[in-house]
Amino acid sequence: MSRSVLVTGGNRGIGLAIARAFAAAGDKVAVTYRSGEPPADLVAQGVLAVRCDITDSEQVEQAYKEVEEKHGNVEVLVANAGITRDQLLIRMTEEDFSAVLDTNLVGTFRVVKRANRGMLRAKKGRVVLISSVVGLLGQGGQANYAASKAGLVGFARSLARELGSRNITFNVVAPGFVDTDMTRVLSDEQRADIVAQVPLGRYGKAEEIAAAVRFLASDEASYITGAVIPVDGGLGMGH
Ligand code: NDP
Repeated sequence: MSRSVLVTGGNRGIGLAIARAFAAAGDKVAVTYRSGEPPADLVAQGVLAVRCDITDSEQVEQAYKEVEEKHGNVEVLVANAGITRDQLLIRMTEEDFSAVLDTNLVGTFRVVKRANRGMLRAKKGRVVLISSVVGLLGQGGQANYAASKAGLVGFARSLARELGSRNITFNVVAPGFVDTDMTRVLSDEQRADIVAQVPLGRYGKAEEIAAAVRFLASDEASYITGAVIPVDGGLGMGH
């Protein structure tokens, strides 16, 4: 059955692959974008593109209104939008720290809170948060990012307990290193170091993250909540 699915940051990278996977399965998909618009073929396929900066509650409210008007209640929310602002602690400003937290963690809170309204009414819902292996392992130069991504785990697990009786599931996907704009800024040397630590010996593809997200939103995953699913080539094993 075709569901109303919302993917934040669905205009590129992992979010775009997630949007494509749901659209290919016949769901009614909406993506939010902030600066760059999604590719024309996605929109031509009927995917709804809504401009929304998740650091602004008013924009989140407006985006939801538009999605609800066109696709009905959001039944599946994928909170994917995220940023990095890497810096060693000695050079990390409070602004660097709060900007990352405000997007990755508080931004996720904003969209989940708004989605919860309709999910409570419908007495069902699927929420998938995109964290990172770095939130579990830590990473020098990414204290802000790792803290935000670790925060998502506590957030999801608390909501899994709070809203399980309402038939709303909250799960986390923790990708390893995936080839997108976010990681293209790394040097060849940094990439080689990362790959050397990955048991599967390569970067992940955005489509491989999308497959796990789709599973968590599917009927087959109806008894899974509060889980953290690593999709990281084995990098974070044991965490
Ligand atoms: P990209 O940098 O390619 O894309 C980030 C997406 O988030 C873009 O769509 C961007 O929109 C959106 N975004 C950022 N800030 C905001 C904001 N304030 N409001 C709305 N949208 C925003 O990253 P990836 O696709 O690689 O990452 C997607 C998610 O996966 C992120 O949460 C990231 O932390 C996580 N992740 C990525 C990994 C990787 O190796 N690539 C590994 C582990 C986790 P716009 O285009 O408008 O800027």
